[in-house]
Amino acid sequence: MREMHDKEIEYFQDTLDSRKIQIEKNIAGVEKEMNELRELELNDEGDYASVSNDNMVENAIGNQQELELFEIDIALAKIKDGSFGICEMCEECVGVHRLKVKPHAKYCIDCREIAEKSAV
Ligand SMILES: [Zn+2]
Repeated sequence: MREMHDKEIEYFQDTLDSRKIQIEKNIAGVEKEMNELRELELNDEGDYASVSNDNMVENAIGNQQELELFEIDIALAKIKDGSFGICEMCEECVGVHRLKVKPHAKYCIDCREIAEKSAV
């Protein structure tokens, strides 16, 4: 069942690590911007509406990144305990090709389709 080689695991660990660093940087940047916007809001009430709209967009981006960060942490934990690359639903290999597109994928392509349909 395990078709993943050490070198591939290493590759995905590197990918996940650098993605994690990137996201943490992004989140820190968004938080900094939001703090700056909050200060602007206090100083300039006239522009309040547009600042709030921007905040909503920043928030949405931040939430999405935090979710990805969370999934990356799970994937990194899986690398440690040896379950990385195994579909959480059918316990088959997710497949290197799919993992290269999305290293923190939880399901194989078949199960992802089922999961998306049942999530509705
Ligand atoms: Zn599956």
